[in-house]
Amino acid sequence: MKPSEIPGLPAGVPTHLREEGIESLYPPQAEAVEKGLTDGQSLVASVPTASGKTLIAELAMLSAIERGGKALYIVPLRALASEKKAEFERWEEYGISVGVSTGNYEASGEWLASRDIIVATSEKVDSLVRNNAPWIDDLACVVADEVHLVDDRHRGPTLEVTLAKLRTVNPGVQMVALSATVGNAAEIANWLDAALVQSEWRPIDLRMGVHFGNAINFDDGSQTEVAVESGGRQAPAIVGDTLDDGGSTLVFVNSRRNAESAARRMTEVTDRYLDDDERDALAALADDIRDVSDTETSDDLAATVERGAAFHHAGLAAEHRSIVEDAFRDRLLKTICATPTLAAGVNTPSRRVIVRDWRRYDGEFGGMKPLDVLEIHQMCGRAGRPGLDPYGEAVLLAKNADEMDELFDRYIWAEPEPVRSKLAAEPALRTHVLATIASGFATTREGLLEFLDGTLYAAQAEASGATDRLAQVTDAVLAYLDANEFIERDGDTLSATSIGHTVSRLYLDPMSAAEIIDGLRAAESGDGATGRYGRSKGAGTGQESEPTGFVSAGELRSANGPGGRSETDGPSAEDETDTEPAKPTPLGLYHLVSRTPDMYELYLKSGDKETYTELCYERESELLGLTPSEFEEVRFEEWLSALKTAKLLEDWALEVDEDRITERYGVGPGDIRGKVETAEWLLGAAEELAGTLGLGSNVAIREAKKRIEYGVREELLDLAGVRGVGRKRARRLYEAGITSRSNLREANKRRVLAALRGRRKTAEKILANVGRQDPSMDGIREAELPETSADTATSTESAASSDAATGDSPDQSSLGDFE
Ligand code: ADP
Repeated sequence: MKPSEIPGLPAGVPTHLREEGIESLYPPQAEAVEKGLTDGQSLVASVPTASGKTLIAELAMLSAIERGGKALYIVPLRALASEKKAEFERWEEYGISVGVSTGNYEASGEWLASRDIIVATSEKVDSLVRNNAPWIDDLACVVADEVHLVDDRHRGPTLEVTLAKLRTVNPGVQMVALSATVGNAAEIANWLDAALVQSEWRPIDLRMGVHFGNAINFDDGSQTEVAVESGGRQAPAIVGDTLDDGGSTLVFVNSRRNAESAARRMTEVTDRYLDDDERDALAALADDIRDVSDTETSDDLAATVERGAAFHHAGLAAEHRSIVEDAFRDRLLKTICATPTLAAGVNTPSRRVIVRDWRRYDGEFGGMKPLDVLEIHQMCGRAGRPGLDPYGEAVLLAKNADEMDELFDRYIWAEPEPVRSKLAAEPALRTHVLATIASGFATTREGLLEFLDGTLYAAQAEASGATDRLAQVTDAVLAYLDANEFIERDGDTLSATSIGHTVSRLYLDPMSAAEIIDGLRAAESGDGATGRYGRSKGAGTGQESEPTGFVSAGELRSANGPGGRSETDGPSAEDETDTEPAKPTPLGLYHLVSRTPDMYELYLKSGDKETYTELCYERESELLGLTPSEFEEVRFEEWLSALKTAKLLEDWALEVDEDRITERYGVGPGDIRGKVETAEWLLGAAEELAGTLGLGSNVAIREAKKRIEYGVREELLDLAGVRGVGRKRARRLYEAGITSRSNLREANKRRVLAALRGRRKTAEKILANVGRQDPSMDGIREAELPETSADTATSTESAASSDAATGDSPDQSSLGDFE
């Protein structure tokens, strides 16, 4: 089928497609059109990676817009939202506008009403639906990318419920679900009342094989010799063999650390294949990488990139990742050693793919767990660049003949697993049941169950005859929400309380809200936790188990009695009851939000338990609520992991260098940003909850939030908020005597330039941003500034002591003790 033969598209689009090199549709695309894709027919497309799913989505969206509606494209990862938006923006010349909605969950996104295509994550869409975004009714087409992720324990339920809600609000909406090849695509199509396109077709042939000994053994029975020196490693040998033929290789490994060490080793191979031009270009990229952040990860990445290899994992900053992906697509980088995040969605095809590790450590499983067939196939699917390679090759590695046989059986000949709904898990339902009641989707238990009946879970439960479980978990969740006063029952009628509405609008897990409210109340009364709201994250929630494991808030109250730390144990509680409660400190607030289920806390490594137990007692008076007894092992350890997370946030707000933090906590720069963003959101929510409940901690919360937003001490808040300044430059300006925005508007330009280390362009931009009349630095010479301590690694410690001297705030004096 040629582009001109596709019905229903806006004028000009078919010609545009042809100019892009799309002579005719790929077979699965043509089948989708034949089944009514451009006439509003719902469709599930379950096809291999790189076989043109995006165009299927675009054809559906463009024709929906031509019919006068709007289109929504749901992405699985926030990082993909801007990539997709950029891709869809090429339709702007046909009058189609594109908007991307990331950012704050609570915003209602009214401006999106003017866009034809809206790109957002499922979490964001869920929150827009909760906040009654008015344009939801105008949707004619909803695309769900990577819909097989409904199987994901953490994010799947939101996607599932969101799709069900969109269909309830808008029964006629066209659903287009894109999926990798899965075992039960027909079941998904059935759930969505959609036509099914299921195909194994790929634009470029894929051969899969296993390397063992000195050869790759392919699924078609052929062999390719790739010799490995005795004692040598398989992956570098294969990367070298691919480079002999001018091709690049993606190597998938199972952890960040392995990605980094594998990339370092690969440089020994890739370095030999670089010409002078490539070396120059890579050196420039390495500089860009170092500019992104001042961390060891950044330096390590730059060092491997200079030599033609890179690593790629979720600990990298987003800018790092896109530099690496672009350079690989431009064939400058010869190999990327990646964790599986790269296989999900990012378009980085290569001649060969090596799946080096097929097992991954899984805490809940209690050891190394084999990856799913679906995951391995997605990685393998990245092999072969259409139009550039004759075929793609995906290679697994075996150490012996038995392992080779196992890999063939387990992965190469195997069918991918079926997708299974994870909705009946309690944390998922807690959130979605409250939202469903708060947004008026359901006002009775029966109505709620009826709504839930539209989910994949219900469809699958019906097929297997297990229909009671959803009702049981729903009842347990209703009891929890009622006990915590998030909902009210009046006869059969369920409604959300005002705090329940706030929680739902803020997009909090109700359990997070309960924890926060409890902690803030404890701070307010100068008393220990009431035990009424708060509850430990994992213990007794029956997260994945039968609902009988559920502990109601009431039971907790008693659990906090004899089992908990009695109030006379603690130094904090009784002493303060007569006096004004102390204002919560940043550490106390960071700890509070870190112990909610919405914060993914840091693990306690060996030795950490002692360190943080000590810190816990040292700073106990700052922690909001009662510290659990050391004998309640699970709760106590959770309390300590939250403290470790809180301490990371505090370090960030104390201007500790980024690479010191990555080293101290064993995290990447991307993790610091992730934690900071989550904490910002949770503190924003805490501020609002405090407001709704009339609790007086707002100011302290706002300040703690601002400090992590910029990663600075209090005195820099004003300066660090100027665009282009940031935490390090703010400190340098401050030490040069420029302590506020108004100072910066008036300050001697030579001084500014010196504080910014002679960077003229930067200085001009900053001065323009702060609103200075004449920001130009033409003809200005740098002033001689005394060497400031901000230029040295000890800056934060020295600043800490100066603050301690002025009695600034109690959180800052003990930093030096923490090493
Ligand atoms: P998927 O989403 O299935 O992994 P993509 O949609 O990213 O795959 O498509 C992979 C590549 O194939 C893209 O570069 C796209 O431009 C190209 N492509 C898609 N459809 C066609 C077609 N009919 N003819 C030629 N190239 C196509």
